[in-house]
Formats: sequence, structure tokens, C-alpha cells
Amino acid sequence: MVTRRKLLKDLSALPVVGGLMGTGILYACEMDKTTEKPVARNLFEELGVTPVINAGVTMTFLSGSLMLPEVLEAINSTAHDFANMHELQDRIGEKIAEMLHCEAAMVTSGAACAMVLGTAATITGTDEKKRRELPYLPGARPEVIMQKSHRYVFDQAITTTGAKIVEVDGPAEMQQAINDNTVMTLFFNAAGKSSISHEEFVAISKRNNVPSFIDAAADVPPVENLFKFQKIGFDLITFSGGKMIRGPQSAGLLFGRKDLIEAAKLNHSPHEAPIGRPMKVNKEEMFGMYAALKSYLEKDHDKEWQSWLDRIERIKAQVETVSSVKGETHISPGPANAFPSMHVRWDQDKIKVRPRDVYNELKSGTPSIVSNVRRDGEEEMLSVGVVLLRPDQVDIVAGRLKEILLKAM
Ligand SMILES: *Cc1c(COP(=O)(O)O)cnc(C)c1O
Repeated sequence: MVTRRKLLKDLSALPVVGGLMGTGILYACEMDKTTEKPVARNLFEELGVTPVINAGVTMTFLSGSLMLPEVLEAINSTAHDFANMHELQDRIGEKIAEMLHCEAAMVTSGAACAMVLGTAATITGTDEKKRRELPYLPGARPEVIMQKSHRYVFDQAITTTGAKIVEVDGPAEMQQAINDNTVMTLFFNAAGKSSISHEEFVAISKRNNVPSFIDAAADVPPVENLFKFQKIGFDLITFSGGKMIRGPQSAGLLFGRKDLIEAAKLNHSPHEAPIGRPMKVNKEEMFGMYAALKSYLEKDHDKEWQSWLDRIERIKAQVETVSSVKGETHISPGPANAFPSMHVRWDQDKIKVRPRDVYNELKSGTPSIVSNVRRDGEEEMLSVGVVLLRPDQVDIVAGRLKEILLKAM
């Protein structure tokens, strides 16, 4: 029989071991030779990776979001058993669809993956031959219609399927552009300006029997946005899991019309060959995404909003003790990143540093704090985000900022 102690000892030789079944210990630790008790392990230190305080917004290069304890718990508590991935995706999808008042849903490896799968679904339907042939179908290339002003970096996820993007400006051009090769229309919700409204866009798509897709990846808060676009009539909708919903950064949501979600699943892992196979979602991300969404929908959003404003006041009170420094609450109008942050200005004749110098100093200091530099006309200012700080980091950010400004006087 393998005792728990023996198991831990053997496993301590391995670099990382996820989810030790039944031990109650979530990762393998080295044993203290004298006490024979596990020693907490610091993997950041072990690998020489700098932990970062995110005083900005959700950024993929900074690992997106911090998962909430209930999300980590969902991951840890399910890691010990196998599951049939088809069954898991189906059950979680049903539950998410129920929560979001739509026909069907699935967990993807982020919003960009949802865009690939959604487009693939509109091209292949349930046709197995087409699924195998993507992205090089015989014949004319499938076409996806977008407004010219909506073109953006992420639309490469559309052309990954072999589809080509057709740009239109205004409702009349949109109607005219639709032909037999049109498979989908794509609306970028956070585009600065639109020549076609959401409602008109959906109406034209429906009139021509073409599925409409909306990318709203970064567009919560407000929580209402998770329900808005299915009401307008979009057939497919995506949100990132790893932004303000605070699920795993490598997860996302695709939801909407049932036949399209089923076709999207056929184009995805765990099927062996299709275009979505390299965008695998594992069991842990699915459980984590489900737990994150549930907790996001159940949370008291007014209270959370107030706590963000309180954080700003707390940092402001500290930094404004430095002569000429002014902190100001800035609420981004959205649709992306629509939450408060703090703009900090000072008299650069008195405090002889530019916002970008302070940004650099915060970033290269210990602990490393990543903020943002914003521009308002000619003026540069420091933008300090509060929504991704852990509670214990609010005073750390305030203290470091004050210290850097004082030093430059
Ligand atoms: C972040 C983002 C994406 C990509 O989302 P991932 O979840 O990182 O794949 C796509 N579109 C928009 C508008 C985004 O903000």
C-alpha cells in the first residue's frame, strides 16, 4: 500500500504535479527533511518570473484576470476525475444557455477561438466533408460581411477559416454585398463608430437568411450586456472568459442559435481533425468558466462598483498629500473596459517627472506594478486601474506612487 507520506515523497521529485487525488494538497511540495512536512513552494521564484500587480485593465500579455477563489475551487475539485468531454461540453453549455437566456452555448478557448468556430459553423454546418476540408474548400471563398469601420486586429480569426472579409459602409451597401457565398455577418461591438446600427445589422442579416455574429469580448461590465445581444437578435455572441468575468484567461463563451452551436462543436476538440482542434479547451477550463460566469451573474454589481470608487478615494487620499498632485476618477464610457480608474496629474515644474517616467518606475520597481499612460490632447497623464487589484494591493500601489512622486520633488 502506498501511504500518503510515501506518495508525497515520491512526487516531490517531480517538477509540478497537478491535483494529487485525495491528499487534500493541491500541488506537490518539497518535504522539509527534519519535520517531514511539505514546504510551500514559490514557483515564481523557482522559475525567476516576476509577479506583477495589475494597476491597468485586463491585458492578455499580463495573463488577463485573476481567477476568483470559487473558480480555482471549481478547477481543483474537478481535476481528480476524468470526464467525457462531449458530455461535459453539452451539460455546461445547457446550463450556460439557461443562465444567459439563449438557445445554446459552449466554452471555447477565448473569444478569438469563438470567432473561428462560429465562422466555421456557418461554413460547414454539419457537413463532415467540409469540416475536413477547411480552410481550403473547393470553389469560391466563403464571405463574411463587416462594416469598414469595424475592421480590427481580431478579424484574422475569421479569415483563419478560409473565409474572406467583405467591407461595407451603410445598410444599402450591406444589402447589396450579400450573395450566395455570404456565410455570416460580423459586428464588432466596441468599434468606435458604426454606419449600421445593431438593430439594422440584424434585420438585414435575417432578411437575407445570413447568421449574424457579434464580438463583445471585453464588454462587461455592465452585466446586462451578457443578455443584450440575443435580445436584439444576433445568432452568435462571444465574450472572453478571462477578462472581467474573471474565468480562466484561456476560456471564452460562444452562445446563440442551437444549430450553429452544434456545428461549432463539431469543428472543435475533442474531435480529432477539424480547424478548432488546436484550440482545445480542457475540463478544468470548462468547470472554471462555468463557475466564473455563475458567480459573475450572482454578484452584487452595485456594491462592487462602489468598492472600485472607494479604492480610488483611498489611493487619491495618499497621493494628494504630495504637493500639486491631483487624482481624478475616470469612468471609461466603454463598451470595452467600462469601469472606473484614476487619472493622476501633477505640476511638472514642481515634480520633475513625466507620467511615462512614473509608469516605468512603477513597472521596474519591487513589486512590479503595471499602470497605463493616457493622452488627453497634448497632455499625458498616468492612469491607475483599481479593478484588478487584490484588496491588499491597493495600499501598496498608493504607497509606491506617492514614494516615486515625492522623490522627484
Ligand atoms: C480580448 C478580445 C478578443 C480576444 O479574446 P480572447 O478571449 O483573448 O481570445 C477578441 N475581440 C475583442 C474585441 C477583444 O477585446
